[in-house]
Formats: sequence, C-alpha cells, structure tokens
Amino acid sequence: MINEKMLGLGNKRSVIREIFEYGNKRRAEIGNENVYDFSLGNPSIPAPEKVSEALLDLVQNTDATKLHGYTSAQGDLGVRTAIADSINGRFGIGATPNLLYMTCGAAASLTISLTAILNEGDEVIVLAPFFPEYTVFIEKAGGKVRVVKCREEDFQIDFTALESTINDKTKAIIINSPNNPSGVVLSTETIKKLSKLLNEKQVELGTEIFVIADEPYRELVYGDVVVPYIPNYYNNTIVCYSYSKSLSLPGERIGYIFVSPKIANCGEVYAAVCGAGRALGFVCAPSLLQYSVARCQGLTGDIEAYKKNRDLLYNALTEYGYTAAKPDGAFYLFVKSPEADANTFCEKAKSEEILIVPGDDFGYKGYVRISYCVAYDTIKNSLAGFKRLIENYR
Ligand code: PLP
Repeated sequence: MINEKMLGLGNKRSVIREIFEYGNKRRAEIGNENVYDFSLGNPSIPAPEKVSEALLDLVQNTDATKLHGYTSAQGDLGVRTAIADSINGRFGIGATPNLLYMTCGAAASLTISLTAILNEGDEVIVLAPFFPEYTVFIEKAGGKVRVVKCREEDFQIDFTALESTINDKTKAIIINSPNNPSGVVLSTETIKKLSKLLNEKQVELGTEIFVIADEPYRELVYGDVVVPYIPNYYNNTIVCYSYSKSLSLPGERIGYIFVSPKIANCGEVYAAVCGAGRALGFVCAPSLLQYSVARCQGLTGDIEAYKKNRDLLYNALTEYGYTAAKPDGAFYLFVKSPEADANTFCEKAKSEEILIVPGDDFGYKGYVRISYCVAYDTIKNSLAGFKRLIENYR
C-alpha cells in the first residue's frame, strides 16, 4: 500500500490551479485580452537586468565544472557570505554564513525549517488568511495546525485570540508580512506586541516558541512603508526567504533560511536545519542561481508597476462599493465578497470573464483574492465587469 496521506494530497484539487486551467480554456475560446485572470501570484515584471547579466557572465566566464558542480550542502560559502553581508548592511543583526542555508525558494525554506524544529504533536500557529501550503508543510513535519484569524478591520493580529491559542505544545508561529493573500504589512507596533507576548509565554510555560518569518514579499512594499525585521524584535526567529518575488524568479527556485544569531542555541538549530535539508533531499540549491543572486543583493524589479496596479484596482473597487484592507505590499488585494459564500461570487465573476480565488483555502471565508501582478490594461479593462458584479447586489 502506498502512502495514503500523500495519495490524498496528490489527488486534492487546487482551487487556484482549477481556476487558472479554466482561464486557459477561455483564453483559447475568446482570446487572451478578453480574459481577466487574477488567479496566480506569478510576478508580471521582468527580473532586473543585472540578473541576466550575472547569469550570462557566469556562464561565459566561469569554469563549467565549478559553475555546474555541487556546492556545499548548505550552499556556497562565498554566496552565503555575500547574503550575510547584505542582511547585516540592512538590518545590523550579526548574520554569519554559518547560519545561512540556501534553498529552492520559500516553500523549501519553510518545509526544512518546520522539519528542523517540530516533534510529533507540536502545534504551529498560522494567522488566517494564510498561504495554503503551510498546512501541508506543518502536517508533513508531524505538527498540528492551529489557526488564529486576523482582525477583519485591518488584518493585523488579534492578540486576544492568539493568546488563548498558545499553550505548552505551541512550538512556532508563522508570520507572513507583506501577506499573501491580504497584502497587509504587520506594523512595528504589532511585531513589538507579538514579541512581548511570546517572550512572556515562553517564561510562563517554560517552553521555546519560534517565529518563522516567511518573507518572500519583504521588498515588495509601496511608499515609505516599513516591514519590521523580526529578528531585531524577537530572538527565536528563523527567516524563510525567497528570490521568487523580489527578483521575479519563481521558476528558478532559489532562496535561503537564516537562523537568527540571537537564538540561544542557534548553532544547534542551524545543525537541525542542515539535518532537515539532508533528510528532505534539499541539499545544494541550484548552483548557477546561487552565484547569480549573490551578485544581485538589494535589487528588485520595477515595483512601481505593482504600485500603479494596486492604486488603480483598490481605488476603483472601493469606489464601486467593495471593501478591502488597503494592501501596502505584495501584489494581492483581499476583498470582502458581496455575498456570504465567496465560491458563489467567484463563479458569478466568471460571467464577466473575471477569474478570482475564494478565500476559503486561505482559511478566511467570505473573501476573495485578486492577484494584481498582471498587465495594467488587464485591470483597466476588467473594471466595468467588477462594477456590474457589485451592482447586482444592490
Ligand atoms: N510563502 C508565501 C506567502 C507565498 O506566497 C509563496 C508563493 O507564492 C511561497 C511561500 C512559496 O514561495 P517560493 O515560490 O519561493 O517557493
């Protein structure tokens, strides 16, 4: 008998993928420009020029056996040093290469980190709305998912609900800011309050509680919004980073784990990360990409394009009567469905060729996610449809 759990996972339908496939069908039928597909979080701006320059230079001017050979399991030392320097330059935290582990993107960073710290039956708190894969990674690592809903008025943390969920089995909480799917950035005040609560709980319960900071959208923020760097506020932090969104490289699968030097037993935690990477087969992240991102620290694509999209979509939809938390980052808008069942609303949106995703899989019913990492004209041309849709509810 094969593994039932994995069979179930493999057969489980992904609503996002289904909507995207439906979009492919409609594109073939009525033309790409007539389908307003807001289903996927695939970056729509090109990677910075420097990425191609680095790739080309590496391919043309590096010894091929070195370039395409294995690096250390945890990643090339020079690459990890460059990343540590970049982290220190921006956040002054005392990062060292021996606390960095190169991965195939945030998904790998998360599943490795969770496997490194969880024992069977440990609980992990996720704040709804959340990236649906968290439940898969937590359960595979032997953990139990505990969901705490964010406050509906601003999608910041509901501390009363959080406090009542923490118990002696709580091993970690995953924080994702800027957030997928709400686009909300957790404020410095929220992160300070979180740190205070977790520190108090660790003392009261005599346990260790980790923050897993899932940060693929860290650089995608608009205006002068600050995304607090959690290791500077809370000692027991593991950062899961990815270049998928900041450098528009989701298909290249490259990111890292950074174990904070402020964790009392950071060397042990890092060793467990190396062990988990080994056990999961995530050793030696793609070498060409490792060397490339080392040369592209601190860069992003032209995120002004996302801001323009955000402004157009948010301003128009709220003017039509939709409600949504204003997203300060990422490229998602999380909108309250005009009817209780967001699935029904998403079905109705298809009549306007608008493809959006119900919030149910993100642990937040009654909302829909709109991924605005699309062409500006796609948003512009979809607005009349969004307007007609909400008018049906008057
Ligand atoms: N975490 C969040 C919140 C995401 O939105 C995503 C991807 O969309 C991931 C993790 C996985 O990122 P990656 O493609 O780098 O594995």
